[in-house]
Amino acid sequence: MGEKNIAFIGLGIMGSRMAKNLLKAGFPLTVHNRTKEKAEDLIRSGAQWADSPKKAAENADIVFTMLSHPEVVEAVVYADNGLFSGIKPGALWVDMSTVHPTFSKKMAEASSAQNIRFLDAPVSGSKIPAERGELIFLVGGEQTDFEEAKPYFEAMGKAVHYLGKHGNGSAMKILINLMLAHNMAAFSETVHLGEAMGLDKSMVVEMLLNHPVSAPILQGKKAKIMVLDFTPEFPLEHMQKDLHLVALTAFEKNYAMPLANVLKELYAQAKQHGYGRMDMSAIFKWLGQE
Ligand code: NAP
Repeated sequence: MGEKNIAFIGLGIMGSRMAKNLLKAGFPLTVHNRTKEKAEDLIRSGAQWADSPKKAAENADIVFTMLSHPEVVEAVVYADNGLFSGIKPGALWVDMSTVHPTFSKKMAEASSAQNIRFLDAPVSGSKIPAERGELIFLVGGEQTDFEEAKPYFEAMGKAVHYLGKHGNGSAMKILINLMLAHNMAAFSETVHLGEAMGLDKSMVVEMLLNHPVSAPILQGKKAKIMVLDFTPEFPLEHMQKDLHLVALTAFEKNYAMPLANVLKELYAQAKQHGYGRMDMSAIFKWLGQE
């Protein structure tokens, strides 16, 4: 695979852990994050610090980004000291942020206009899979670019799926999160009704989680619901953002999504009332308000 120079921009909950796994795998890594403190552990572990996205991208053959939402990706890419002002022609930009497919296609076109290659490669799996290198990659773009990036995905993930053209990775990702948002909210409302009927909470949670009606992913949220500790793994504000991206996409496709839009506003209410930086499972707490 040779000694490619790798840059990583966006060291939040996910990015910091993913970058750490690239370092552990022995890849030379330059990192940048708006808030430098979040890079300190990586710098101690051997990563080079760059003061701007431009500097991070300058010597890179592949640039990975892991940022909050489309507007942040645009800001990081188009700023005066942004990614596009530094990246070399022919380099590969891999955006792993969760964005909507139209946005990924737009970034692919903008990249191509600058003679840069692009992949959308969002991930499924949260803070702990990110830490353990057990993410699932959903990738859209040219297959040759996918093959080039695959060893890096494998250092950060346990499964890598090539889904075809640009935007398909992002399309699959928003479908998965839509289902997660539904499952989490439906489960929460159901448990609260159980309690309202006088049933024991832990009995209701156990019975439901061990019944085929529950999605397996909810097992991972059980501890949070039982002890009401919503330390973020996947911040609720990002789930609300993902539902917004679902709604935008449904509008583009002229497809009505009455359930998803109610759900979006439910998560928006929780965010508006200060739950944004709690884990997305805090929708349980929001729905249990007196
Ligand atoms: P996070 O902890 O909130 O990190 C967000 C990142 O974006 C940070 O690096 C942050 O920089 C940067 N950022 C935010 N606003 C910015 C701005 N205006 N200019 C420059 N940088 C900015 O989020 P995360 O959980 O790591 O998620 C990152 C992406 O992965 C999101 O698209 C999310 O939907 C997706 N995702 C998350 C999970 C999960 O379980 N957490 C799972 C799969 C996918 P600062 O550090 O300076 O704030």
